[in-house]
Amino acid sequence: MFDKIENLHDLLEVKLQGLYDAENQLIKAMPKMATKATDPQLRMSLDKHLRETENQVTRLEEVAKNLGMDLNGPGCKAMEGMIDEANMLLSMRADDEVRDAAIISAAQGVEHYEIAQYGTAIAFARRLGYNAEAGILNATLVEEKNTNETLTQLAEVAVNEKAA
Ligand code: FE
Ligand code: FE
Repeated sequence: MFDKIENLHDLLEVKLQGLYDAENQLIKAMPKMATKATDPQLRMSLDKHLRETENQVTRLEEVAKNLGMDLNGPGCKAMEGMIDEANMLLSMRADDEVRDAAIISAAQGVEHYEIAQYGTAIAFARRLGYNAEAGILNATLVEEKNTNETLTQLAEVAVNEKAA
């Protein structure tokens, strides 16, 4: 862990440490969320994103290796909090559609957080001239954005079906 963040390179390292811990937490938490989903499309998209997330961990390792960074850091308290909150919601009894809505809202919170964090990390990497690494991180950002889009569509379909 850093005593002092000397420069943008160090700050990028801290950001990547947080993302690395966050993605690893998600790999543990997502299967549980997926099994609690009723809508087969929601379940499928969570399963798909779990496989993407495993690859995102590999990308972070690749970037860290290229830049001589250590991914072991203080962990990601924000992701811990979001996962705790999701588990708390899912421990309560609810009808299937309501439970699915709870899963979608928790998952979208996670994707928005990741979009913000990867966006920042990519901007730092570009400013430091780490263009190849920015490109690798951008592949992950695209997956997070697409997942968020899919979740929005699933939420809209669920709401429309309910209204009908
Ligand atoms: Fe991710
Ligand atoms: Fe994600």
